[in-house]
Amino acid sequence: MKLSRFLYIVFMMMPFIGTNSFGQNFDQIKQYKVSFSIAIKGTEKLLAIRSFANNNQKYLLLLNTETLDTKVDLAGNYNTSSLKWPKVMATFENSPYVKALQSAAAKDLQLQNAGIDHSIPKEKGIALTIDLCPSHKNLDRIIFQSVFEEFKKIEQPAPLAISVSGKWMLKHQNDLNWLKGLVQKNELDITWINHSYHHEVNNLPLTENFLLAPGTNLDVEVLENEKLMLKNGLIPSVFFRFPGLVSNQSTVDKIEFYGLIPVGSDAWLAKGQMPNSGSIVLIHGNGNEEIGVKDFIQLLKNKQIDVKNKQWLLFDLRQGLEKEFDR
Ligand SMILES: [Zn+2]
Repeated sequence: MKLSRFLYIVFMMMPFIGTNSFGQNFDQIKQYKVSFSIAIKGTEKLLAIRSFANNNQKYLLLLNTETLDTKVDLAGNYNTSSLKWPKVMATFENSPYVKALQSAAAKDLQLQNAGIDHSIPKEKGIALTIDLCPSHKNLDRIIFQSVFEEFKKIEQPAPLAISVSGKWMLKHQNDLNWLKGLVQKNELDITWINHSYHHEVNNLPLTENFLLAPGTNLDVEVLENEKLMLKNGLIPSVFFRFPGLVSNQSTVDKIEFYGLIPVGSDAWLAKGQMPNSGSIVLIHGNGNEEIGVKDFIQLLKNKQIDVKNKQWLLFDLRQGLEKEFDR
């Protein structure tokens, strides 16, 4: 290939590189709204789930209902036609997106761990999710360093998902910048999951705790957190992780009306739940779950040979669920 042609292709690809994990910092967001529309550009047919203005430009948060990828783009680049929520479900009924929503809703009566809790049953490996609940302690950087070290020859960037709360982001700018640096250096590919803004925890029973606490305003918990993610240059994924993995039927329904897929876990390591093939593994990386971090590092050690032989891989949550529901 001629050099000029190569450079042309690289140049044309530039807007797409890294758009999944982090993008520009939107620090003047106004009119941030849940608004569903079909957005078409050429052969690309996406579902817009949010609209907002920033510095007098109008933007959309866009979802590919097949691959579950999200991105932010200028609204002016698309032909849009707005949809009410039931019409979204009907229009995309055969997509992995709607099938994942239906599967998550089928378990909405559970008080804990509603939503999707495993990704790909027959594959060798796991999807790793790391929750960043509010904390006074520093990020457990060793988790991310270990993942990179272990997988750099096999999978680079290594995919993992981080569930981030607003109150964690506000307190841990250095740690957040460090994580973004790992994405920039192509060491990790991070899917950013909304983990609510305040992530309230109280002493009441689970039925009145976390997002079920009296006085919870879901608009604040969901949308203000997305705005803060965008302000920090993180592209919100289509996933939502309930604080404490606690929800009821009504909150699961409401989260889905925001267009988001609740993601649970079938292997919360600190609770002694061992991962199987296709598990969605949960550890906390906010300094408050020493045992979970220790268990995870041990798990990596135990799997060292399997990793080398590609018999134990990390799966991108989006690709895992696409495979699971694309049939
Ligand atoms: Zn949490």
